[in-house]
Amino acid sequence: MARKFVRAIFPGSFDPITNGHLDVINRSIKLFDELIIAVGRSPVKNQLFTPEERVEMIAELITDMPGISVESFDGLTVEYAAKKKADVILRGLRSLTDVQYEFQLAMTNRAVAGIETVFVMTSEQYGFTSSTLIRQVASLGGNLTKLIPKNVHNRLQQRLKKRES
Ligand code: ADP
Repeated sequence: MARKFVRAIFPGSFDPITNGHLDVINRSIKLFDELIIAVGRSPVKNQLFTPEERVEMIAELITDMPGISVESFDGLTVEYAAKKKADVILRGLRSLTDVQYEFQLAMTNRAVAGIETVFVMTSEQYGFTSSTLIRQVASLGGNLTKLIPKNVHNRLQQRLKKRES
C-alpha cells in the first residue's frame, strides 16, 4: 500500500527560534512530507520580536530545506491545523518537565479536534535551551553562539543595541 502523504504543523512562539527548534525540525522532516512552521501571533509575555520578525528569521533558515515553510497564525492551533489540512501537530520535547504540559495540550487538542500530536526529542545539547532563557541571557550580554543560529544572534544584538540607545 502506498504511504499516505503526511503534512505537519509545528506551532510555537519562536521568540526567537533556537538551535533546539531547528534540531527538532531537522529530525522531523524525515517523518513528514511537508512541514509548516507556524508562528503564533497571540501576544506572548515579554515578547522580543514581532511575529513578522520571527517569521523572517525562520524563513532565512529554511531557504534550502525542501518541504518546509513558515507562516504566522492567529487564534486556536487546532483551527489553523484544520485550515491547513494538517494531519498532525509536531511539538518538541526537552525534558520530563515539558512532558506534563505537552501531554495536557496534546490531549486537549485531540479531545476538541481529533488531531494527533507527534513529539520529537531534541539532542541532549539543546535540552536546556529555551527562547525565554535566550532572551534573558541576551539582555545581560551573554554569549549565545552555540544555542542560536547566526542570523538570530545578529538580530538579537541589533535589537538590544536599539534598546540601549
Ligand atoms: P510555545 O510558547 O508554544 O511553547 P515555543 O516556541 O517555546 O512555543 O516552543 C515550540 C515547541 O518547541 C514546543 O513544543 C517546545 O516544547 C519546543 N521546544 C522549545 N525549545 C526546544 C528545544 N530546545 N529543543 C526541543 N524542543 C524545543
